[in-house]
Order: sequence, then C-alpha cells, then structure tokens
Amino acid sequence: MVNDDYTLIKNIKRYAIENKIPIMQNEGIDFLTTFIIKHQIKNVLEIGSAIGYSAIMMTLCSPNLKVTTIERDEARYLEALKNIKNMKLEDRITLIFNDALKTKIEGKFDLIFIDAAKAQNINFFERFEKNLTDDGFIITDNMYFHGLVHKNEKEITSRNVRGIVRKIKDYITFLKNNDNYITTIYDVGDGIAVSNKKNK
Ligand code: SAH
Ligand code: MG
Repeated sequence: MVNDDYTLIKNIKRYAIENKIPIMQNEGIDFLTTFIIKHQIKNVLEIGSAIGYSAIMMTLCSPNLKVTTIERDEARYLEALKNIKNMKLEDRITLIFNDALKTKIEGKFDLIFIDAAKAQNINFFERFEKNLTDDGFIITDNMYFHGLVHKNEKEITSRNVRGIVRKIKDYITFLKNNDNYITTIYDVGDGIAVSNKKNK
C-alpha cells in the first residue's frame, strides 16, 4: 500500500465515523482479508457496499481479486464511487446502485459477503446462492448485532431492535439446518458466520 492509499483509507474511516456509517471494524477486516488469502478467493459478491470500505480492503489484500458490490442508498453509493475512483480500483470493483433484493447478478463467485439489512439475511442468502461456486463460501457479518443477540430479549426496549434480533436468530437456525452448507460462527468482531457449500 503506498502512502497516498494509506491517507485515503484513513479519510474513508474518518468519514464513516463522522457520518455514523457502520463499516467493518479492524478485527472483522483482518478476519475477512486473511480468509481471502488463505482460501485464494478470486471473485467476491458483496451485499451492502456502504462507502466502499470493505470492498476496497478486500481488493487490496489480493492482487487478482475482483469484487462486485451492491448498495441501495444513493449518498453512500456516490461516496463509494468516489472512494473507489480515488483508490484507482474501478477496474477491480464493480459497484451497483440498486436494492440487492431487486438485482439480478450473472456469473459465479467463490465468496459472497452479506453485510446489508440484518433482517433480510435469509432473503439475501436464498437470492444469491445460485451465484456461488460449487465449494464456495457465504460470509455474513454482524451475527451478534452489537452483542444484542446474546442479551435477554426483555432487556431490549426497542421493538424494532427486538425484531431484528429475532430475525438474526432465525437466520442462525436457518444456517444450522441447511444441509447444503457447513456453518461456523466465529467470535470475531460483531460475530462472523462462514458457511461453506458442500461440494457434492
Ligand atoms: N460492507 C460495508 C458496510 C455496509 S453497511 C463495510 O464494511 O465497509 C450496510 C449497507 O447495506 C448500508 O449502506 C445499507 O444502505 C446497505 N443495504 C441495506 N439493505 C440493502 C439492500 N437490500 N440492497 C442494497 N444495499 C443494502
Ligand atoms: Mg457489518
């Protein structure tokens, strides 16, 4: 990484903090990039680009990696576009401005990274698993939802938050009961699920 890139990334992180954009924390990024290198991942489909931070970090860790990433919020999409351009990664990151649940994606990916609306995880999983290679991985961020998944429901005062927590629990059950995948939830960052498709 050259010095300019380092400054740009620092600025992206600062922008995220100032604008309360929930980008992945260092621990999660370390896990993801180590995973990509270890499994020699070549093509990533990301659901939820926000301002392009995780897509950029994934691309930087492996010279031949390509990322396709979807964002539905226009302001974030525009910011991501700018960041990707500034990093000169337009050739390796394809950014799509749309609701992922209305987006048709062609082609296969050896990693699908789900990091968007937490209540929609099952829908994202089911919509995009056709785009996964035979022995590919689906990684889902925020399985703990800021620690709330392990909290007693009665202590969660917001009805909305309680709803999301329930949906994440449903997603955990969905993953555990899915015979086509082996899922491990790692106690890293905000909880990261790795689901590996069984090569049949
Ligand atoms: N992966 C990013 C953070 C993503 S934050 C990083 O770590 O840098 C989650 C993003 O998902 C938000 O910007 C939100 O607008 C987007 N999102 C939520 N639901 C979506 C959907 N259905 N389609 C596309 N984007 C979605
Ligand atoms: Mg996240």
